[in-house]
Amino acid sequence: MKVTHVEIFDIECPDRPPWNPVFIRIHTDEGITGVGEAGLAYDWGHSAAAAMIKEITEAVLIGFDPFNTELLWSKMLRESFWGLGGGPVLYSAMSAIDTALWDIKGKALGVPVYQLLGGKVNGKLRTYASQLQFDWDVEIKKLFRPEEYAEAALKAVAEGYDAVKVDPIVYNLDGTSSFDRTKLFTKPQMRLFGDRLRAIRDAVGEDVDIIFESHSLMGAASAIQMGSIVEEVGCMMYEEPVNYLNSKVHKKVSDNVNVPIAGGERLYHRWDVRPYFEDQSIDVLQPDVGLCGGFTEAKKVCDYADVYDIRIQAHVCGGPVATAASLHLETAIPNFLIHEHHTYATKAWNRELCLQDPQPVNGFFEVSEVPGLGIELNDEIVKRSPNVTVKSLK
Ligand code: MG
Repeated sequence: MKVTHVEIFDIECPDRPPWNPVFIRIHTDEGITGVGEAGLAYDWGHSAAAAMIKEITEAVLIGFDPFNTELLWSKMLRESFWGLGGGPVLYSAMSAIDTALWDIKGKALGVPVYQLLGGKVNGKLRTYASQLQFDWDVEIKKLFRPEEYAEAALKAVAEGYDAVKVDPIVYNLDGTSSFDRTKLFTKPQMRLFGDRLRAIRDAVGEDVDIIFESHSLMGAASAIQMGSIVEEVGCMMYEEPVNYLNSKVHKKVSDNVNVPIAGGERLYHRWDVRPYFEDQSIDVLQPDVGLCGGFTEAKKVCDYADVYDIRIQAHVCGGPVATAASLHLETAIPNFLIHEHHTYATKAWNRELCLQDPQPVNGFFEVSEVPGLGIELNDEIVKRSPNVTVKSLK
């Protein structure tokens, strides 16, 4: 089998700018196609990922045997020159291509992708409602008052979730957002963010898990300061308290806050995660199949994490292809902990992008049993967005 041509879609959602999942569809000479997604649907970088996929396709993918995923991964790592460092643009492009090749393999062999990864370890995947600061409803809404946070959590619980995630620091009371959380928090700030968390705890009771999210924005001192509230509320985990630019900072936070530390969506491969594993400063790794190099690398990273008793929650903030891919990974790994269902994944402008619509039932997900990933692009929708077809070598 050989790759004949590749379609690349840089999605624009008129109802939710900026939201830009980048999809690819790889075609083969046997008529089998595979889909993948680059993990840069939000914030900056999607158009760069689409351009990078085009470059890789022209350089090594056209004419390639899609079964040789390990070989292609090595080529992308070394022949790109930049792969030997890391970074979201190249790695998200590598991830999209690798994911699509596994979809082709599954379809060609007549098995779902999780079977190729080792079979079913986890039949039902416990799932949490993610990013409650945007509400948990048909529309996204900025939440300010603590009571609104409580109401959002109760909506998720009513749908069957027994775990929720919130970043209570995104919005100030006047609706503005501060991207510098490295300074020490003032007493009124600590009270406001603490009241939002305590309102959730009071509403949902002791048996629902609360995950505290901080998007890597705090500094070590402010993260330790906020850690007192995270401990007081009894959070299940403390996600991305600090950035990944200096692993020693992570270690300082984990040494000073007695709640499991989660993180990893901005780490790209087994070499990137090594310092956090060796110093035990991450308890729950959150690799993104669309960023860490697709299934080929994600499976390695998850198995490597198991050596250090680190549990896995795949990071998912993308289109339905990203959701489908993470479900196959999480179904097949023994150290799976919980699945993330982002509030964006529940919105019509995201769900319409594919023909299938993976959603949890009563707080649990089950993987598709269809050969491959079990997800296909909805051409009627995705072809409205900028797209290119790469057919032959430059
Ligand atoms: Mg996160």
